[in-house]
Amino acid sequence: MSNNTTLPKFTNLIQLMQYFSDENVCLQHLKEMRWANGVYCPHCGCMKVYSFTDGKRYKCSDCRKQFTAKVGSIFENTKIPLQKWFVAIYLISSHKKGISSLQLAKDLGITQKNAWFLLHRLRHASNTSAFNAPLSNTVEADETYIGGKEKNKHKSKKTEGTQGRSTKTKTPVLAVVERGGLIKAAKSENVDSKAIGKFITNNVVLGSTLMTDEYRIYQTIKWLYKHNYVKHGAGEYVVNDCHTNTLEGFFSLLKRSIVGIYHFVSAKHLDNYLNEATFRYNSKDWTEHDRFNMLLSATAGKRLTYQSLIANS
Ligand SMILES: [Zn+2]
Repeated sequence: MSNNTTLPKFTNLIQLMQYFSDENVCLQHLKEMRWANGVYCPHCGCMKVYSFTDGKRYKCSDCRKQFTAKVGSIFENTKIPLQKWFVAIYLISSHKKGISSLQLAKDLGITQKNAWFLLHRLRHASNTSAFNAPLSNTVEADETYIGGKEKNKHKSKKTEGTQGRSTKTKTPVLAVVERGGLIKAAKSENVDSKAIGKFITNNVVLGSTLMTDEYRIYQTIKWLYKHNYVKHGAGEYVVNDCHTNTLEGFFSLLKRSIVGIYHFVSAKHLDNYLNEATFRYNSKDWTEHDRFNMLLSATAGKRLTYQSLIANS
């Protein structure tokens, strides 16, 4: 990420809005974030481009197409001013539990449909490669289930055998977190030793210390790690430094956001909500300024159409 931008350090929304006072200032900042190493054509990658005197448009010397800094990013073809997008980036990245499309629509003066689409595009962008490094040292692994609570459903709608660990009405989420480090979480079709093994070995350096509960599927990869576990079934939650409390805290915040703010999350969009939640966790110690720029710099190459969002998967 480039820190060589003209955006002064800001610590609150008022300062952000004072700086991004019009569309042109926003576009200039977007250019600085996207093209820190020089302008290139988003259509073909060519670096020989001509700039127009309006300071906004460019033309590629190779494919001859015109473009602005918005082309090839989540901002392509948007009718919402960049200033509103930038405020949304601030809100989504700094509010601990996120923001609902209803609230964002009111705050920005846009329709809820536009706010919903805007939030999904930002969640899509928040799946940044900045947090791709594998985890090591001491890592907690656990799984949770997102979906309708069986006990709140009418008796006739209840599904047999859905108490606790079941994938019949809920979507499983697997997660690992390094103590004092990054978190990774992903939706999973199944919760079996194959799915868990693949997720953990893809994300955690072999030989690390792994903390789990006693669920037997974690036993199948124990020879790859220094495995410690607590027996939740026997009332054990913390034994010396062995616990999964960091992940329990993350899951609890995730569920409260989903129930309290988003009300409902379909399995189709769950990955996007996980992108948002893990981005927020992984950037929690960053300044507002750095978090904003990180999410903004991740918007390039992430075009997401409304059709693909609403299509049945
Ligand atoms: Zn080109």
